[in-house]
Amino acid sequence: MTTPRIDFDLKPSAQPVAATEREAMLADPGFGRHFTDHMVTVKWTEGRGWHDAQLQPYAPLQIDPANMTLHYSQTIFEGLKAYRQPDGSVATFRPDANARRFQRSARRLAMPELPVETFIEACDLLVKTDRDWVPGKDEHSLYLRPFMFATEVGLGVRPANEYLFMVIASPASGYFPRGVKPVSVWLSQEYVRAAPGGMGEAKTGGNYAASLVAQAEAADQGCDQVVWLDALERRYIEEMGGMNLYLVRNSGGTTTIVTPKLTGTLLPGITRDSLLTIAEDLGYGTEEARISTDEWQAGNADGSITEVFACGTAAVITPVGHVKSARAEWTVGDGRPGPVTTRLREALLSVQTGQSPDPHAWMHRL
Ligand code: PMP
Repeated sequence: MTTPRIDFDLKPSAQPVAATEREAMLADPGFGRHFTDHMVTVKWTEGRGWHDAQLQPYAPLQIDPANMTLHYSQTIFEGLKAYRQPDGSVATFRPDANARRFQRSARRLAMPELPVETFIEACDLLVKTDRDWVPGKDEHSLYLRPFMFATEVGLGVRPANEYLFMVIASPASGYFPRGVKPVSVWLSQEYVRAAPGGMGEAKTGGNYAASLVAQAEAADQGCDQVVWLDALERRYIEEMGGMNLYLVRNSGGTTTIVTPKLTGTLLPGITRDSLLTIAEDLGYGTEEARISTDEWQAGNADGSITEVFACGTAAVITPVGHVKSARAEWTVGDGRPGPVTTRLREALLSVQTGQSPDPHAWMHRL
């Protein structure tokens, strides 16, 4: 069955940010600080489905104090990027994969599923309208934030009967202020991000709220980021803050990149998935497995695990340089970005920025 196309009502801003002001923001955008001139909104109502799709000026929302999201947190989001291509055009990276993950998140939170086509159309419309906000500088991009939340007003724990889907956009340079410098990580024994049967594989605000005290603990320990362990044994590594993890294993002349397998408690990253393919293209082995912290420490000590890196849309690939837990502490390899990490990072970025061919048709040109 094909989904009926939703027509967007276009209400362009009468007061867009002045070009000089925009250019000043684009010179050093940071991450998530500035927002473009427009936003997309689509409503969903029980019995009526998706309706009232609009492109409108970026503006605050009015929220009733009894808005159900404020109390029961039915809210999900996505993150993807639009990159300026060498010919001046703009392309997003695998928006269909984000659209499908958004549907899976919606199912887990008993929310309505937005059709994949509508998700992509909404992102396309915003990027096309605000295309002057897509930075041209190396490694800069326009970060898109699609999200949905309950808009029904009332108290009582049950799925809401009204929701709002939105897309906003923010120009971005690097995510971590220190760029591609390796990060140090704290292995969290006390706090867990997600337990089996929980919401770990959904991209929902609650998972991020749950992460904040652990991130603060990591900072107290002098580390940049927290690494989550499995909830039951606190033995297996799951992911790092808002990124998935990879270990680089060298044995018998073969290089394999190994990532924690998707057990339902970690977010199935689109960068993680893309790297499994890119690594194979480059002739590396790939493996999805359960990896214990003991195995990591031992592999680091005997030289079989030579590099570790984290990956995600916001920061692409970030090397992990140092590991600390309540029991142990070690430096990964020589603490500097390793050759496999660097090669994978360049390979992925060059597809995203249109510097190299796109054999898997990941780029969605606007
Ligand atoms: N894990 C978590 C918890 C995240 O928030 C993200 C960012 N979406 C990732 C992993 C990486 O996912 P992706 O590659 O799709 O950005």
